[in-house]
Amino acid sequence: MMTNEAAHTAYVDGLRNAHALEKQAIEIIERQLERMESYPELMQRLRQHLQETQAQHERLDRLLEASGESRSMLKDVAMSFMGNVAALAHAPADDEVLKNTFANAGFEAYEIAAYTSLIALAQQAGHADAITELQKSLEEERSMLQWLEQHVEPLTLAYLEREADPSEATLR
Ligand code: MG
Ligand code: FE
Repeated sequence: MMTNEAAHTAYVDGLRNAHALEKQAIEIIERQLERMESYPELMQRLRQHLQETQAQHERLDRLLEASGESRSMLKDVAMSFMGNVAALAHAPADDEVLKNTFANAGFEAYEIAAYTSLIALAQQAGHADAITELQKSLEEERSMLQWLEQHVEPLTLAYLEREADPSEATLR
């Protein structure tokens, strides 16, 4: 049936895009973890989300396999938006922790939209079994975004405190 096939194709494309997105996420978080040692609470949450992200990436691997797509067809194509976020994660500035946190919130919002769309496609394509798996990832992204939103203010104050302390400033 035509409609079903279109839904299946869009679903598989969505899985591929999400797979590429999670690969980017792993790289971005790993880079940030190298530089956030002054913010232990943030580091701890990022470490947790790195583990979640690795599991999400593997989850998408399994769903791609279950969708009947050959693994050799799979290539992780970086999207320009994510390239920008990655560049932002590199920028060596005093307020890097703040910029990274804003970028991370943007990244999580993107992931939430992507998984919401993917769940709709899975539904249309008749992959009911995939929906529960995708919901797990969606919930993890929502929880990460919520954490970031709740920590913008405390992280800003922690940053300000560091900036005001000359003994800390020399560490940069
Ligand atoms: Mg993710
Ligand atoms: Fe995420």
